[in-house]
Amino acid sequence: MPFVLAVDQGTTSSRALVFDHAGAVRGMAQREFRQIYPEPGWVEHDPMEIWETQSGVIREVLANAGITGRDVAAIGITNQRETTVLWERATGRPLANAIVWQDRRTAGDCDALRAAGHEAAIAAKTGLVLDPYFSGTKLKWLLDHIPGARARAGRGELAFGTIDTWLVWKLTNGAVHVTDASNASRTLLYDIHKGAWDDELLALFDVPREVLPRVVSSSQVIATTALDGASVPIAGIAGDQQAALFGQACDRPGLAKNTYGTGCFLLLNTGALAVPSRNRLLTTIAWNLGGKLTYALEGSVFIGGAAVQWLRDGLKLIRTAPDVEALARSEADSGGVVMVPAFAGLGAPHWDAYARGAILGLTRGSTGGHLARAALESIAFQSADVLSAMEKDGGVTLTELRVDGGATRNELLMQFQADLLGVPVVRPEVLETTALGAAYLAGLAVGFWKDADEIRANWRVARRFEPAMSRDRASELRARWEKAVSRAKDWA
Ligand code: ADP
Repeated sequence: MPFVLAVDQGTTSSRALVFDHAGAVRGMAQREFRQIYPEPGWVEHDPMEIWETQSGVIREVLANAGITGRDVAAIGITNQRETTVLWERATGRPLANAIVWQDRRTAGDCDALRAAGHEAAIAAKTGLVLDPYFSGTKLKWLLDHIPGARARAGRGELAFGTIDTWLVWKLTNGAVHVTDASNASRTLLYDIHKGAWDDELLALFDVPREVLPRVVSSSQVIATTALDGASVPIAGIAGDQQAALFGQACDRPGLAKNTYGTGCFLLLNTGALAVPSRNRLLTTIAWNLGGKLTYALEGSVFIGGAAVQWLRDGLKLIRTAPDVEALARSEADSGGVVMVPAFAGLGAPHWDAYARGAILGLTRGSTGGHLARAALESIAFQSADVLSAMEKDGGVTLTELRVDGGATRNELLMQFQADLLGVPVVRPEVLETTALGAAYLAGLAVGFWKDADEIRANWRVARRFEPAMSRDRASELRARWEKAVSRAKDWA
């Protein structure tokens, strides 16, 4: 059986990819599904639509790759994290739409828990900050608002799950109710140090234990599912960012990846140590492999590639996102222009919800080229800020940064990132790192890949950007950026 199938259930689309033993993509299928916005700040998905699009692309990708279920050694699942589903065990019927990670409806619940002084204890156990982003208050909201739900959950009639859990349930016709440690670590209900659901947290969020899935390893045969009549093991699960960390072969402490998409997602492997953050980064479980937990520090940048979208759609300075590079190259540097794209406030490590976007250092000589450079540089500055916080928190020194995501095609951005950090920025051949990570976790469990060494050998560099800027110059630039950030803060 020469292939592994990755099920990649994202926020806007369901995807399925087929990988071969060398880790190369041999087929891909993708379907979008509806984003439901019932009220301002609310975001929902229809769990049945998630399942239908996901099972559709699974069938489609096998056809695309010209293979059948008999050619698939294992299935790995990776998913949009934190999104919360509640369903009836007897029928598999969801009791409501899924509450998506972006949904802010539980901000009040978080405020109340904070006011009651619970934040520090929650952070100590879960590694998370108290925010509507995570599943805990979303599940509480469903149990509070669906008549009779909490009592039914207590009687074991209902099942809670993140999207991985929902997909395994559907793939096994309701036989298996599990999640993996990386997904569990995003619920606010899971003690990441003990690796167990926590009774005090369950009491705090008023969640009956009976509703919870069993937590399994990120790489083990969990169940089998029928693919074209063949019985194929489901053997790997990880949340999307953790899967990407694994797909980048960042399997040792000190290795980090940054995904440059709409926003930027940075994760640093901290090994067996769950490092508490002093800069409001998240401490999270990267994966559970063979019963051994690996931890990561995580930080995100809200506006990454979206800064380029703004040049395109807001300013109409460019026609397509890739055009930004040629425009930026029309100037040798940013001409002293600094853009702080705090369009939605600033995330880690600045954490200022009232910051707003700013462009500083404009003169009569400033051009579109300067602005294009400033936008690209802002993506690198923000990523560098998160990485510096990670290095401080984690007590590690970054040796290189592995990158993926749409904006890594921008060579100028990648070079500037290396220059700022003073470490090489490395872009691998396979940029589908999220799906690849899920495939690796599944393939390892069934012996398709022997061990981590084999995976490391598969990870091949497409391009390595070596730092070329003097450290003095990099410090100057970062100091000027800091000054610009201070001007953008506390504005709205
Ligand atoms: P997501 O998964 O968040 O949708 P992608 O990984 O597909 O994001 O990347 C898309 C983002 O990358 C967009 O914000 C886009 O503006 C940006 N982008 C795409 N190509 C380039 C490029 N050549 N230079 C800079 N930014 C780019």
